[in-house]
Amino acid sequence: MKCDKKIKKRSGRMQREADTVAVMIHQYCRRLKHNDSEELCADCAELLRYAEQSLAQCPFQEGKTTCGNCQVHCYKPSMREKIRKVMRVVGPRMILTNPIMALRHAMDGLRKKPIEEKGKKE
Ligand SMILES: [Zn+2]
Repeated sequence: MKCDKKIKKRSGRMQREADTVAVMIHQYCRRLKHNDSEELCADCAELLRYAEQSLAQCPFQEGKTTCGNCQVHCYKPSMREKIRKVMRVVGPRMILTNPIMALRHAMDGLRKKPIEEKGKKE
């Protein structure tokens, strides 16, 4: 099976968000036994693709808070409903299964307001 190519040009913050959502969707799919194999079922694979796409198009990029805290609801309602279900099912377990990731995500979420990026100064 061919994997989708990773979206390039992602920096730490965005990569972290993408990794987190991928891990959560995988856990969710496995936990609810959508599939016998390790692969995501078609539904979850679509959700993951959608989540990655949304992230790539996020206007805030590095300045973003976590998607759960963001005021810009870029998910369409059906996908939003799905991702919420994922969060409800695996969210509370993340602290046990992926403590570091969960902690970082919580810290990222403390950033309430997204910061708009106006050209990086380095
Ligand atoms: Zn699934």
